[in-house]
Amino acid sequence: MKRTVLAALIAVATLGSTSVTADTLGLDTEYRSATPTVEQVLGYPMGSRISSPEAIYDYFQALAESHPEQVRIITYGETWEERPLYYVAISSATNISQLADYRAGMQALANPQATDSDEAERLLAELPSSIWLSYGVHGNEISSPEAAMLTAWHLLAANDDATRIMLDNTMVFIDPVQNPDGRGRFVSRYYMTAGLEHSSDRISAEHNEPWPNGRSNHYLFDLNRDWLALTQPEVAGQVDALLDTYPLIFVDLHEMGGDQSYYFTPEARPYNPLIAASQRESLWTIGENNGKWFDRHGYDYFTREIFDAFYPGYGASWPLYHGTLAMTYEMASARGHHFRTKDGDILTYGDGVQRHFVASLATIETASRERERLLTNFWNYRKQAIADGRDSDERYVFINADRDPAGAQRLAGLLTRHGVTVQQSNAAFEACGEDFAAGSLVIDSAQPAHYMIRTLLDEQVNMAQDFLDEQERLRANNLPDQIYDVTAWSLPLMFNLEQQRCERAPRVDTQLANTDIIKPGTLNNADAKVAFLAPWGDMNSARLLAAALREGLTVKQSDLAFTLKSGERYPAGSLIFTLAENGDDVAARLTTLAQRTGATINGVDSSWITEGPNFGSNNVQKVHAPRIAMAWDEPFSSLNAGHTRFVLERQIGYPVTAIRADQLRRADLSHYNVLLLPSSYGSLAGAFGDDGAANLKQWVERGGVLITMGNSTAWAVEQQLLASALESEAKEQTVEVHQQPKVEGLLLETTEHLHNYVNGADTDPYWTSGVITKLDVDQEHWLTAGVPATVNSITVGNQIYRPLTINNGRNLLTYASADELLASGYLWAENKQQLAHKPYLMWQPRGRGMVISFAQEPTYRAYLDGLNITLMNAIFGGASHARPLR
Ligand SMILES: [Zn+2]
Repeated sequence: MKRTVLAALIAVATLGSTSVTADTLGLDTEYRSATPTVEQVLGYPMGSRISSPEAIYDYFQALAESHPEQVRIITYGETWEERPLYYVAISSATNISQLADYRAGMQALANPQATDSDEAERLLAELPSSIWLSYGVHGNEISSPEAAMLTAWHLLAANDDATRIMLDNTMVFIDPVQNPDGRGRFVSRYYMTAGLEHSSDRISAEHNEPWPNGRSNHYLFDLNRDWLALTQPEVAGQVDALLDTYPLIFVDLHEMGGDQSYYFTPEARPYNPLIAASQRESLWTIGENNGKWFDRHGYDYFTREIFDAFYPGYGASWPLYHGTLAMTYEMASARGHHFRTKDGDILTYGDGVQRHFVASLATIETASRERERLLTNFWNYRKQAIADGRDSDERYVFINADRDPAGAQRLAGLLTRHGVTVQQSNAAFEACGEDFAAGSLVIDSAQPAHYMIRTLLDEQVNMAQDFLDEQERLRANNLPDQIYDVTAWSLPLMFNLEQQRCERAPRVDTQLANTDIIKPGTLNNADAKVAFLAPWGDMNSARLLAAALREGLTVKQSDLAFTLKSGERYPAGSLIFTLAENGDDVAARLTTLAQRTGATINGVDSSWITEGPNFGSNNVQKVHAPRIAMAWDEPFSSLNAGHTRFVLERQIGYPVTAIRADQLRRADLSHYNVLLLPSSYGSLAGAFGDDGAANLKQWVERGGVLITMGNSTAWAVEQQLLASALESEAKEQTVEVHQQPKVEGLLLETTEHLHNYVNGADTDPYWTSGVITKLDVDQEHWLTAGVPATVNSITVGNQIYRPLTINNGRNLLTYASADELLASGYLWAENKQQLAHKPYLMWQPRGRGMVISFAQEPTYRAYLDGLNITLMNAIFGGASHARPLR
C-alpha cells in the first residue's frame, strides 16, 4: 500500500505549529506506509516539537524494527550522563547484508601497503559509495537531529527510483545526536520556559538559555574542538567508528545565528595546506549540487565567506586528513519553535529541519552519483600519502620519552586512536644525531595516515601569505581580522615533548603501540625497610599523588631535589611514603596505585641523603588532602570551568566542589583549602561585589589558596589581591584624544599617526585568536618543582600583565624573548614585542594564604598537558605551603 507524504506527515494547522509536510518539503514522492513516521512513534508531527535524545533513540529503534534488512544501529560509547552514543547504517537490503564486507573492503582500500592493485580494482568496481552524516554536535543547534530522523524516514519510505538508486549505490551512516547530554539539557530547559504560546522574541526566556547552555557536553567541552586531543567519549567514540567505516564523505550539520540563511561548502579561506587539491575540487562539486537543490526549493544560502578549514580539530576537518571529504553545514537557528528575524520574518524550527533534510539528501545524491570517482580518489589519496611520506627527507619522526614518559605514552596511545601506526622502542637508541630513551616513539610517516601525522605533529602550519597580508591590511585599517580559531595545535608542543625528524630508519627493536593512554607502572624493591619514593614531574606522578591522598596514605613532598646515598637523584616535588607513617601494607597498596596511575615507585632501605633535604627537613612538606572548590555558573567561562574540572577530575583523578558565584560571595569557605576561579566572560566585580571580594580576601588571609585564570586574574588585580596591572597597547608615539567640542589644531603627518590617533591612547593590545607560546621557567620555587626550563602554553586574546615586583611576589613562568616566544601559529609583531618577558604565572603570598594567578587558561581544551604539573603544584603545593590555622 502506498500513500503520499501528505497523509504520512499530518500537519496540525494550529498557531505555532512548525510541522514539516509534503508541501513544505516540495518533494513529489510517494511513501510506503510500512515505515513508521515520527508522529506514529513519538506522538507528534515531524518538526512540531524539539525531540529529546531519548525520543530520537526510540525512533531509530522503531525504524530498525520495521526495516531489519535495511537498518543497523551500532553503539560506539556512552556519554558522561550515561546516554548511548550510536550511529545508524541505512542502505539497500543487499548492502546492509554485506556491511561486514563493506568494512573489510574500505579497510583494504585504506591500506594500500597490504592491498595490491588488482584487489583494489575489484573493490573499486564493487563497493558502494558511502556518506556519514553527523547531526547535533552542539546541543542547542536543534534542527539537525530532527532532520536526521526525517532523512532516515525518507530513505526507507520513499517509493521512487531516485531514492532506490541512492541506496543501491550508497551506504548511508547517520549519527543523529553527537551530543545527547547537551541536547537533553537544552530540550528540558527550553520546555520549562514555555507558556501558553511559544515566543518568537529573541529577548524572551525561551530564546536565552541559562548557564551552561546546551552547546557543550557534560564537562562543558565544545566537542567541535576536541578532535585533536580526543578527551571526550562523544568524539573518541566517533573517531573509532569513522576508522572502522572510512566513509567517503563526512558532513557535520550545525546551526548559526537566526538572522542568516544557510551555509555549505566550499569553505572560507584560509585552507589548511595539508588538504589535497583533489579534495578541494570535490568539495566544490558537492557544494554545487547542494546549490541546485536549494535553487529548486527556493532556499537562500551562502558559501566561502566564513567557517574556514584551517584548524584541524573540528569534526568537519579531522576526516580530511584520512582522505575523506569533510565539511560543515550551518542553518539559521530558530533556537526554539520560532524566531523573529531582523527583517521581521518568522523562522520556524521546521524551516531548519527542512533545509538540513534537503542538504542531507542533496549530498547523499552526490555520494551516490560520484561513487566511482570518490572511491578512486580515496584509494589514490591513501597511496599518495604513503608516497609523500616515503619521498620526504623527514620520513621518520621520533618523540623522546626521556623527560616525560607519561606524556610520551599518552601521545603514543592518542596517535594510535587517530589511526596512526606508531612504534615504541624497546631500548635506548640514537637517531638524527640525538639520544632517545627506551619507550620513545618511532613513526614512519610513509603510511596512509601521513597527513594525519603531519596535522597532529607539525610544529608550524602556515596560512597562505596573501591571506596573511590581507589580515595585516585589515588590521592596519582598524578592521577585524578573519582568523576564526587558534593557528597552532601541534600535540608534541602542547605536551612539551621534543620531536626530531630525519630520513633514515633507526636501528632499534620496536613494538607496535596500542591505544593505552596510561602504561601500568611498577613498584621496585617491595621489601624496602624505610620508604617508597616516586620521582615528580609527569602525569603518572600527578595521578599517584591524587590517588594516594584519596586512599588516605600519608605522603610528603620535597621542595628541593635530593640525592640518595646510592647516587640516585630525585627532582624537586618527589613523593615520599615512609613505612613509619603508612604501616607495613604500604608496599601492596602502592603497587596497586602504581599499576593504575602509571607511576614508578622505588623502595629504599635508608633515609640517608647525601645532597638536598632529609625527609624530616622543613623543605619537605606533608601533603594534606586539600578540599578544592571551583567557581561555577555566571559570569565564568563555561568552557574554562568545564576544562578545568575535567583535567582535575578525569585526568588527574581528584574531586572538585563546584560553587556558584552567589554562594562564594557570602558563604563560609573555611573548610576549603583551594578555590579556583576559571576565566570569566563578564565582570567578576559585578558578580562578587565588594562583599564577595571582602569574603574571598579574608579567606585568603586566613590560609586559603586562590588560583585565578585568564580574565579572573584581571579581577584579582582590580581587587588588589595581586600587585600586577593590565597593560594597554604599547605605542611608540601616542596622541592624546580630546573630547571637548572645540580643540586646538592637530597636524597628522603620516597615516601611522592617524592610525594611532584613531586607536586612542589606552586601547587594548591586538586580539590574537590563539598561538602556542614558549615560557621561561624560574625553577627555584616549589610552584615549578619538576617543571623543565621552558614550557609551552596557549595564548589567546589580548591580556598582558605587568610583572610582580620582588617585594610583592614572584613571576614563575614568563614569556620568552620577543624572537623566541612564538612556538607555533601566527602572532602580530606588536604582541610579540609587548608579551616578551611578561608574566604567565604569578605568585603572591597574602596573610596565611596566597594568590596564584595564570594570565591565560592552563587547562585550555584540556590539551596543554605540558602545564599540568605546574597546575598540580599550584593546587597541592599551594595547599601544603599555605598556613591556615588548623
Ligand atoms: Zn555548531
